[in-house]
Amino acid sequence: MHFDHRTYAQRVLFGSHRAADHLRTVVSEYAAQRLMVIASNSQRQVARGLTGNLDVVLEYTDVAMHVPIDTAQRARAAAAAHDIDLIVAIGGGSTTGLAKAVALTTQLPVVAIPTTYSGSEATNVWGITEHQRKVTGIDDAVLPAVIIYDAALMLELPVDLAVASGLNGLAHCIDSMWAPRANPINAALAAEGIRAINVGLPQIVADPKDLVGREHALYGAYLSAAAFASAGSGLHHKICHVLGGTYNLPHAQTHAVVLPYVLAYNQHSARPAAERIAGAFGTSDALSGLQHLRTAINAPQALADYGYTAANIPETVEIMMGNLPANNPRSITAEHLTELLTAALNGRDPAALLT
Ligand code: NAD
Repeated sequence: MHFDHRTYAQRVLFGSHRAADHLRTVVSEYAAQRLMVIASNSQRQVARGLTGNLDVVLEYTDVAMHVPIDTAQRARAAAAAHDIDLIVAIGGGSTTGLAKAVALTTQLPVVAIPTTYSGSEATNVWGITEHQRKVTGIDDAVLPAVIIYDAALMLELPVDLAVASGLNGLAHCIDSMWAPRANPINAALAAEGIRAINVGLPQIVADPKDLVGREHALYGAYLSAAAFASAGSGLHHKICHVLGGTYNLPHAQTHAVVLPYVLAYNQHSARPAAERIAGAFGTSDALSGLQHLRTAINAPQALADYGYTAANIPETVEIMMGNLPANNPRSITAEHLTELLTAALNGRDPAALLT
């Protein structure tokens, strides 16, 4: 074995119905006096419930998907104007993303309390959208210092969103198996993440108010993000990054649709990874395992359902060809990408991409 692995320094507090207590402890340990709480309007009441006993200097709700640069700049100015000393981000990846954008320029510590399975809270990756292009970067200043996971906060996440977001987590796991910095430690995290998400999502669909399924999915989402943060962006993330940043497609649903096509495309060129993925699903074949889960949870099917069109494909391919991932197990050509995107656009059987 020969690898170079980084483990990121974060405290992870996990416990259902314990987020408010955990937050109070963390704020006291930081001796924070001037809290900025970022939560989108949909999570405002949740945020108030968690911060009721704390002195909050600034309640901030101006959150938008993919962090438009104007949104980032307004939030940075507000943090400076209120002399903030700790940011608490309560919400999905868009909320965490805004907190990261503020941390990038202010170096303020962030406490993340996620309400989706996007996993942004466990990565040092930031993203900001300017002129219809999403720019991402890596900076340890944006890695939340503390993550507080509370599956009870996920009970209101509608099942269709939980499914899409859980598949976003699964995509982190699967792409980590062949991403540029793939290594055995990421693979171990990713395999356990696949197992946990594969247990959790069907339970959420069967009984949306059951905490056990939500806990499995949340635990798996953390593992998935820890693997992704270390492994970097593989083919799947490169494609979804272009689809989200250029065409403003919804993040989780886009990941959910594209994943089986990338898995099918790479599967036969990445046999050890595919065996690991299949083992985590408990099936003899990786794509079958993923498709079995997708059918059980009624996963999103086609990019056409989210506003993507055939006319977008040539531009997507052109952008992608200038930004291909290093070390993809199968070589990638413009024709291959066109075939993959066309299949994903129409929700065709991904098995056609197996070679
Ligand atoms: P999101 O944060 O945009 O949330 C989706 C919708 O769900 C929003 O309307 C939100 O208000 C609502 N919502 C969130 N939690 C809810 C809950 N518990 N109950 C009811 N509604 C709820 O979507 P997302 O998929 O979590 O995050 C997407 C963003 O995160 C994208 O911009 C993506 O690029 C970014 N992201 C970044 C990283 C990273 O490492 N930097 C990783 C993953 C995602």
